[in-house]
Amino acid sequence: MLSYRHAFHAGNHADVLKHFMLLQLLQYLNQKDKAYWYIDTHAGAGVYALDQGYAAKNAEYADGIGRLLARDDLPAPLAEYAALVRSLNPNGGLRLYPGSPWIALQTLRQDDRLRLFELHPSDHELLQENFRDAGRRATVEAADGFAGLKALLPPPPRRALVLIDPPYEEKQDYQRVPAALQGALKRFATGSYAVWYPLLQRQESRQLPEKLKTLPANSWLHASLTVATPSADGFGMHGSGMFVLNPPWTLKAALQDAMPYLVRVLGQDAGAAYQLEFHEN
Ligand code: SAM
Repeated sequence: MLSYRHAFHAGNHADVLKHFMLLQLLQYLNQKDKAYWYIDTHAGAGVYALDQGYAAKNAEYADGIGRLLARDDLPAPLAEYAALVRSLNPNGGLRLYPGSPWIALQTLRQDDRLRLFELHPSDHELLQENFRDAGRRATVEAADGFAGLKALLPPPPRRALVLIDPPYEEKQDYQRVPAALQGALKRFATGSYAVWYPLLQRQESRQLPEKLKTLPANSWLHASLTVATPSADGFGMHGSGMFVLNPPWTLKAALQDAMPYLVRVLGQDAGAAYQLEFHEN
């Protein structure tokens, strides 16, 4: 059942963490003059209108990217991400918010390729529409991203970044993610893999990063941002995390710069905090 629509959440604190880290990962790959693939297993619609429809309903972006764009003291990694969001809104204000595929399309070079998977028929249609002009650079498939990933690895250029960003509305996503990564590392051990996950009080969410730490990757980095004290009733998302297998060595420094700032600017109460862990085998 596909009930999740990312438009409700576009530009919220979780998108801020995910997308600024994504931009850092892509910029690092761009430093080497060799083509790579960007694989997005759960791509969403690509671009979201914030002033209408689902996104306008709860206006989650107001406490996410909205707070960042109101600042003039952003640390460099966040300033680069904010500039990208502004480039999508050339007339000022904040009408449109970029999804992960759009951020990648702007950042990838001519010979790099995007492989995008989106299963929801409406979001797949929007994604195709948003990527109409991308030509040969991007392939958009209405298919299961976990199976699609398996079929693509190892990628022909032997360089790739994979973003795995499922909705986690179905409990099985917490099992599918480590299982997909286990298989992916067997096929393509040197790829970089970034997993987004929600900070919830349910056991599966708390256990996911611990499971990912046991995967046979050369190194990993785990960053999580708590924006509010977990609720007394046990429900709701109080933050989110990104777990990166085989991260670039530059990522840790960028996060040490950005995470305390995000706590200050996106924090909603005294429970706001961040965690940053790094491991090399
Ligand atoms: N990565 C996007 C971004 O950062 O802009 C947001 C993606 S959203 C969190 C998750 C998306 O995955 C939804 O659009 C949903 O329809 C889609 N989806 C759910 N299950 C899927 C699957 N098995 N394969 C591909 N897409 C799926």
